[in-house]
Amino acid sequence: MSSDVILPGATLGVMGGGQLGRMFVHAAQRMGYFTAVLDPDPASPAGLISHFHIQTDYLDEQGLAQLMQRSAAITTEFENVPAPALVTLGAHRPVAPGAEAVGIAQDRVQEKAHFVRCGLPCAPHAVIESAAQLASVAADLLPGILKTSRLGYDGKGQFRINSPEYTDAAWAAVGPSPAVLESFVDFEREVSVVAARGVDGSFVHYGVIENDHKNRILDVSLAPARITTKTAAEAAEIARTVLTALDVVGVLCVEFFVTHDGSLLINELAPRPHNSGHLTFDACVTSQFEQQLRAVCGLPLGSTELLCPAAMANLLGDLWDKGEPDWAAGCAFPAIKLHLYGKLAPRRGRKMGHLTALGENAEEIVRKARLVLTENVGSANENRTRI
Ligand code: AMP
Repeated sequence: MSSDVILPGATLGVMGGGQLGRMFVHAAQRMGYFTAVLDPDPASPAGLISHFHIQTDYLDEQGLAQLMQRSAAITTEFENVPAPALVTLGAHRPVAPGAEAVGIAQDRVQEKAHFVRCGLPCAPHAVIESAAQLASVAADLLPGILKTSRLGYDGKGQFRINSPEYTDAAWAAVGPSPAVLESFVDFEREVSVVAARGVDGSFVHYGVIENDHKNRILDVSLAPARITTKTAAEAAEIARTVLTALDVVGVLCVEFFVTHDGSLLINELAPRPHNSGHLTFDACVTSQFEQQLRAVCGLPLGSTELLCPAAMANLLGDLWDKGEPDWAAGCAFPAIKLHLYGKLAPRRGRKMGHLTALGENAEEIVRKARLVLTENVGSANENRTRI
């Protein structure tokens, strides 16, 4: 094995302290690594549990210097980490994912251009830089969705345009920075492939996971996806092409639309562990977070075997509308695994945690368990203050 392998006992740096960083920290600590998280928020979910928490902006020179000084290697937990910060870090430490993959995935214009360059299937689209341009190209791409090129996620920075009369309103909502107009895909289902690539080019994937979105935010995922073996094999092959073309080291998720004739269109890339892969924690031999660690540290990649069918349901801040959810009622389902991210302030649409369940009826169980969390919450809680 190469002498560049980073072994337990070393400290691993994480740019970003959200829930993905927290789950990475859990995986790292379980394997005997120390962790250093850089995130300006003193209450960030990963910062709260990390050995070291550097509370500075992502571009703060001193913060980046401290992270480098502490860490043998550095990873990122969200794609909007400024790419220049990764360039700075990458000059001195192994950084995965690298600035190039992150730079492409955080800019829809570049991402779409990359798909076209690599011959990868995606929805018909056009780059839009002005209201006039939107009004003139719109007809052949409508109905469509105008998406801001940068900093959009979970459907934020998007506007659905059903007919040309809405183009001005769409541009007012999404412009004036560059955007992509994508034709609306009448998909049968949405799926994703979470995959990983090692420093030596080795490649593994977790099969195809099926994703059900609500209000453009992931709601429920299940594995394996209910698609044909042919479509599943094609999706895995596309994922391999994506990771190889971007020379990715680490985990990357490819999100797809499956159309009614079984063909695949890539929606977008996430160059990191992904919400749809959270079920790998409980359902696979190696979780997506341990896999990220193995790739970053130059260790051999672990088995992605799915031990049994599994499902995951997100817990959004909306569940707190009437008070603290009834965790005991949720845990009364013996198959349920509860994951909470330690976020102190529930807000509508904010990802606060998730439930997973294993077994043939896992989807039914996570949906039912989530329902009971709020069933008896109400009047008793209305006057209660959170402490
Ligand atoms: P995004 O933030 O681009 O991943 O979009 C969030 C969700 O919006 C997707 O998971 C889909 O459910 C929906 N969506 C996005 N783009 C399209 C499209 N071109 N056609 C149909 N639905 C879309």
